[in-house]
Amino acid sequence: MSRNGLERMFSLSGKTALVTGARTGIGQAIAVALAEAGADVVLLGHQDNMQETERLVAETGRRHRTVLLDLADPSAAAAGVQGLLAEERIDILVNNAGIIRRAPAVQYRERDWYDVMNVNLHALFWLTQAVAKPMLERRQGKIIHIASVLSFQGGILVPAYTASKHAVAGLTKALANEWAALGVQVNAIAPGYVATNNTEALRKDPDRNEAIRSRIPAGRWGEPADIAGAAVFLASPASDYVNGHVLVVDGGWLAR
Ligand code: NAP
Repeated sequence: MSRNGLERMFSLSGKTALVTGARTGIGQAIAVALAEAGADVVLLGHQDNMQETERLVAETGRRHRTVLLDLADPSAAAAGVQGLLAEERIDILVNNAGIIRRAPAVQYRERDWYDVMNVNLHALFWLTQAVAKPMLERRQGKIIHIASVLSFQGGILVPAYTASKHAVAGLTKALANEWAALGVQVNAIAPGYVATNNTEALRKDPDRNEAIRSRIPAGRWGEPADIAGAAVFLASPASDYVNGHVLVVDGGWLAR
């Protein structure tokens, strides 16, 4: 294949991506990588602190726009996205925002359960529904959910998180079944253990830090940039025949 052919296969030029949780970590790395591949980017956060990601996207030369919506209130967030859709054509949706609350199941607080479910699952579904409607009318779109290795495993002290991420993997397949024939690809990425705010407490605990690191065949924690290439692939024409797949990017954690 020619160099031009290869570039076209992964080019996001002319596309606009909406990335949730774009302020930090994996979401920030994905937003910047999609911009580097040619996409304009809408950055979704819930506090007025998107400046670093805005600067990094601006350095790629692509257009960015920030939208502030609280995904802990899924219906209000979906209504906010409806407003955005009146002004922007969204070609790529990355449902990345997610939270984790750690506690033994018998002590798990109702508030924590619902917060995690609202951000990780309910907001993801209602945002996807809103963004998918115009995609389905155009018969073109790419939807990428950020799942987890805890879409396959139980984890330790994170019952709501594990339940939400198992649901995200199931939903990826359910939506792909409905929409694959209509030109909208729905897939997910399941990151392993990545050094972000999400895992700060684990990395600060010397025993957990070493137990996790030493179990990863790659021998190191992942970095947000390790996840970005998978997102570019799933957003690009290179993945046009990939539907309902949960792409594990974990340094080999699940292979062990
Ligand atoms: P992170 O740095 O904590 O990123 C989470 C992002 O979600 C932040 O930008 C956060 O914004 C945003 N967010 C949280 N609550 C929100 C709300 N109510 N409304 C809107 N945005 C909200 O952690 P991360 O590791 O990059 O997480 C990104 C995704 O990867 C999550 O879905 C996570 O479950 C998944 N994941 C992470 C790992 C890992 O090892 N790190 C492994 C598997 C899966 P603020 O910071 O402004 O609150």
